[in-house]
Amino acid sequence: MIAQAEQKYGRTPGSVRLIGASKAQPTSAIRTLAALGVTAMGENYVQEAIKKQQDLADCDLEWHFIGHIQSNKTREIATHFAWVHSVDRTKIARRLAEQRPATAPLLNVCLEVNVDAQAGKSGASLAELDELARAVSELPRLKLRGLMAIPEPREEFAAQRRAFAKLRQARDRLNSLGLGLDTLSMGMSADAEAAIAEGATLIRLGTALFGPRPSDRPRPPT
Ligand SMILES: *Cc1c(COP(=O)(O)O)cnc(C)c1O
Repeated sequence: MIAQAEQKYGRTPGSVRLIGASKAQPTSAIRTLAALGVTAMGENYVQEAIKKQQDLADCDLEWHFIGHIQSNKTREIATHFAWVHSVDRTKIARRLAEQRPATAPLLNVCLEVNVDAQAGKSGASLAELDELARAVSELPRLKLRGLMAIPEPREEFAAQRRAFAKLRQARDRLNSLGLGLDTLSMGMSADAEAAIAEGATLIRLGTALFGPRPSDRPRPPT
């Protein structure tokens, strides 16, 4: 599906990378995907992720933190992940920079943007983004790579594209200020094709890859 979409929308072959969104999935399912060639997993909950990382230490997976970041979890995130997609305030970025171990490679960071300005959702507003990006780009131990968004669910393909286009334009604008961002983390199971059409470089697939999350599956009748 990814290769087809790359071709259909004129994207460079291999420019879109798949991340398994593995929250609530058992280690056995992750192991199966790793054996099939999926190289990166995204997790939303720190304790669940660390447990899985220990169980899957032999799998050579790259771990991405894609969930909401509580400030009391930054040390574990800074220690146990290669990427963080969901930085939306300077305070969190400062903590990650202070807590990233000096021996580890730079922590790859995406800034989460609330592209649809949804009330009560995480993500920086488009208005706050310049200041946040400048601040994060100056922090040690972090490498600012790009932007991430979870737009409001929409049925219509063209409407999905419009939301992702806003993130792409925000990235282009930051790059015109010299930030050198190479990453757009956008697209989930229901809207990945629209995200690829608008320039996604990382897509985060859960149900399309693993099937329904165990907690979402209908229970067998008892
Ligand atoms: C769960 C999740 C996904 C994957 O969602 P699906 O609809 O199952 O593909 C992607 N990104 C984030 C941040 C998630 O929490």
